[in-house]
Amino acid sequence: MTDRLVIIGAGQAGFALAAKLRALKDTRPITIIGAEDALPYQRPPLTKKYLLGEMAFDRLMFRPEQWYADNDVEIRLSTWAEQIKRESKQVVLQDGSVLEYGTLALTTGSTPRALPAAIGGDLEGVYVARDKRDADLLADEMRPGRRVLIIGGGYIGLEAAAVARHRGLEVTVIEMADRILQRVAAKETADIMRVIHESHDVVIREKTGLKRLVGKDGRVSAAELSDGSTIGIDFAIVGIGVVPNDQLAKEAGLEVANGIVVDEYARSSDPAIYAAGDCAVQPWEGGQIRLESVQNAVDQAEAIATIIAGGTSPYEPKPWFWSDQYDVKLQIAGFNLGYDETLLRPGGREGAHSVWYFRKGVFIAVDAINDAKAYVAGKKMLEMGINPDKAILADGSADLKQLLAQS
Ligand SMILES: Cc1cc2nc3c(=O)[nH]c(=O)nc-3n(C[C@H](O)[C@H](O)[C@H](O)COP(=O)(O)OP(=O)(O)OC[C@H]3O[C@@H](n4cnc5c(N)ncnc54)[C@H](O)[C@@H]3O)c2cc1C
Repeated sequence: MTDRLVIIGAGQAGFALAAKLRALKDTRPITIIGAEDALPYQRPPLTKKYLLGEMAFDRLMFRPEQWYADNDVEIRLSTWAEQIKRESKQVVLQDGSVLEYGTLALTTGSTPRALPAAIGGDLEGVYVARDKRDADLLADEMRPGRRVLIIGGGYIGLEAAAVARHRGLEVTVIEMADRILQRVAAKETADIMRVIHESHDVVIREKTGLKRLVGKDGRVSAAELSDGSTIGIDFAIVGIGVVPNDQLAKEAGLEVANGIVVDEYARSSDPAIYAAGDCAVQPWEGGQIRLESVQNAVDQAEAIATIIAGGTSPYEPKPWFWSDQYDVKLQIAGFNLGYDETLLRPGGREGAHSVWYFRKGVFIAVDAINDAKAYVAGKKMLEMGINPDKAILADGSADLKQLLAQS
């Protein structure tokens, strides 16, 4: 019997789990399995500074190779966990080798939803943005004067649009919903972000879906849109959401429901197997939630480390998220699920705004656009359980600190 911790997935959560366990002075053997050929790295810059060419890859990596040797963390890259044999507590890798585990952690992340081949998704020049390889291919395509179609007006699509404009491309974003950011943010936030993109000459077409991509010699050359129009393009970026990598867990008979179902201790339906990050669906306010953010990946993974090292505290997500577009920093605290009221607060300086979300009168989240003060204050209010006075909140000249004194 081994007490080895095997971590499947060498990304944000996988690395955080190994690092935290070592920080807790836990000495059990650790093996991380990673399908990619790179040491664990952060993904957010892939559609921000890395794509802009302003950040080298070694700055994306969490730690250099030496760290793994120094901390006695075995890492096997460019290989794939293919099967989990729960009865014998073994993981079978793509090359047929077998690893024994005492504890198993699934940190397999998520995969971008692909455009079906039937509508041109398999043409050359059609990209997603998930890993280093995608970003490198995209960076090669981003040359001044070229025309890019971005399918999907979510954060990934809008960040790619901002980088493409910065690099001098002609950019069209199509969004089949009524507005951009429909799934993740209020109308007020979407309106502000739309104005910012349009002021940078991005063409945003809402309520417009893709009928199909048209190819020439196997490469995308045009897009037929749902409003009957056709536009010529040089390449396309698909940003229409992600699906959790839960297949391995499903095949092993673990409970799966749009993600690997875990309890508040990040434990799956098998007590020897944990899951964290994009692939896990966890309890939330009487229901379930799957989060796609750095904060959740790191905090949930660190919670697993603490639990397997003997801790007893449950993990409670305290969501925060950010997005960089042009010189605009959007920071989000809380989770706006089920909001029924919003309040737009003008910030103290030009271009600063915040959108405050309420559900049944209770403050649940804030989007701060170039307004760090609103973000910090909102985050603190959420942590302290403060329900801010809306009259004070709506007054852009009021000092938010007075709301923090509220109880
Ligand atoms: C372009 C981009 C921009 C983003 N921007 C932000 C942002 O601004 N703010 C924010 O909070 N979040 C952002 N995110 C989301 C954030 O990066 C993810 O939520 C986070 O990486 C999730 O961590 P994870 O460990 O769950 O998954 P990942 O970091 O995706 O790691 C999972 C790893 O597991 C590997 N894997 C999967 N299956 C197997 C297998 N069977 N065997 C071996 N390896 C396997 C995958 O190849 C991958 O390397 C962004 C994501 C992307 C792609």
